[in-house]
This record gives sequence, C-alpha cells and structure tokens, in this order.
Amino acid sequence: MAKYIVLLGPPGAGKGTQAQVISKDMNLAHISSGDLFRENLKNQTELGKLAKGYMDRGELVPDDVTIAMVKDRLSRPDCQDGALLDGFPRTPAQAEALGAMLAGIGGEVSSVPYIHVPAEVLIERLGGRWTCPTCGHVYHEKYNPPQAAGKCDKDGSTLIQREDDKAATVENRIRVYTAQTSPLIEYYRQKGLLAEVDGTQSIEQVSQDILKAIR
Ligand code: ADP
Ligand code: AMP
Repeated sequence: MAKYIVLLGPPGAGKGTQAQVISKDMNLAHISSGDLFRENLKNQTELGKLAKGYMDRGELVPDDVTIAMVKDRLSRPDCQDGALLDGFPRTPAQAEALGAMLAGIGGEVSSVPYIHVPAEVLIERLGGRWTCPTCGHVYHEKYNPPQAAGKCDKDGSTLIQREDDKAATVENRIRVYTAQTSPLIEYYRQKGLLAEVDGTQSIEQVSQDILKAIR
C-alpha cells in the first residue's frame, strides 16, 4: 500500500526544511499546501486571488478549496507511490478528507512526525526566514544561511522574506495553529501514527529523528 507521510508542527517548526531533506532521501514527492497557494498567487489564478486575503491575515484558507487543491495534486503520477505532506492537513475536516482521498487511491497515512518547538523559538525562526521565490528553498539568516548572502544556493535567485512572516501575522498564525491545527496531534496519536520529534535540535539531528520514526 502506498505510504503518505504527514509532517505536523506549528509554523516555523521546520516542516519545509525537513521535507526538502526527507523527500530527497526517500525519493518521495513533497507536497506543500503553502507552496501550492503561493504558486497560485504568483500566477494570479482565481484560487490565488481567493487565498490571498486569508494568507495575508495569517488565517487558514477554507477547507473546501484547500482540500480540492491537494486532492488534485495527489492525483498526479508522481504521488502514486506515496508523498510527503507539509502543511496539510491543518484541520480535523482536512484530516478526514485526506484519509478518504487516500483510501480512494489505495493509500493510507503511514506516519505523522510531529515536530515540536516552543513559541518563542518559532518567532525568531520566522523573523529570520528567507525563501527562494523560484525553487522555494528555505534559509535562515543565522541558523541556515545561504553560501552567498541573499542568493539561493540552488539557482542563484535573490531571496525574499515572506509577507506573512511579519511579527503581527506570525503571532496570529501561531494562534490559528493552536486553535485549529493542534487538535490533530491527538487525532493522529489515537490512530497510533504520531512520532514526536524535538524540533529545537540541529537541522541534521531533526532529520535523523524523523527518518528513524518513519522507517
Ligand atoms: P515550516 O515549514 O514548519 O514553517 P521552515 O522549514 O520554513 O518551517 O523553517 C522556519 C525557519 O527556521 C527557516 O528560516 C529555517 O531555515 C529555520 N530552521 C528550520 N529548522 C531549524 C532548526 N532545526 N534549527 C534552526 N533553524 C531551523
Ligand atoms: P505555510 O507555507 O504552510 O506556512 O502556509 C502559508 C499560508 O497558506 C497559511 O498561513 C494559510 O493561509 C495557507 N495554507 C497553507 N496550507 C493550508 C491548509 N492546509 N489549510 C488552510 N490554509 C492553508
């Protein structure tokens, strides 16, 4: 049965950073709902226009459109043997929908590494995050700097800071995570799928712990 791994954790926990490492190591497609929304925003699609207001405020995009977008992505051939999900599901309704859509394609959620990091660390991480607008690679000015200041190691693009990484929006995103997403910790624990990982360790150590948990 095809295996789908869900990376769970608050904004700034390191889901995107770890997904880049793990997807390469395990040769799995990396599905980031945030990246899919940002792609739509860049291409000025109807979905992008709808999502923009929610993203700017640090709120969740409504379940129906988010679920439809991820379902479409998971139906592509590169996800047939499994995928690594980053940023989805974020509500109990999304988690239920994910279970149903995977059952429909002969798959299941096989493990849920939960990267936990205290709120004060999240604020520092998101405040120093720089992202490549071309390939989505993520850096931190202090903890994971690019080789050449301000340029992506992969493709040389000029790095940008995300609009929603401003302090006021970050606080709201953490509030929204606590209210709407954190119930998924118990949801997946009860299914026996949760693997807790200490996200305050080095990037390499967190990767090792996640790989140990999912193998
Ligand atoms: P998420 O996808 O969960 O929002 P990111 O992977 O984008 O989080 O990481 C947020 C910021 O923290 C980035 O700037 C990233 O470089 C940095 N970061 C990620 N993991 C660690 C770590 N283990 N230690 C220090 N900084 C980290
Ligand atoms: P991220 O890149 O995961 O931090 O997501 C950035 C923003 O995209 C979030 O603050 C939400 O507005 C939106 N978003 C991403 N994933 C989801 C999701 N699963 N459900 C609802 N909104 C989402």
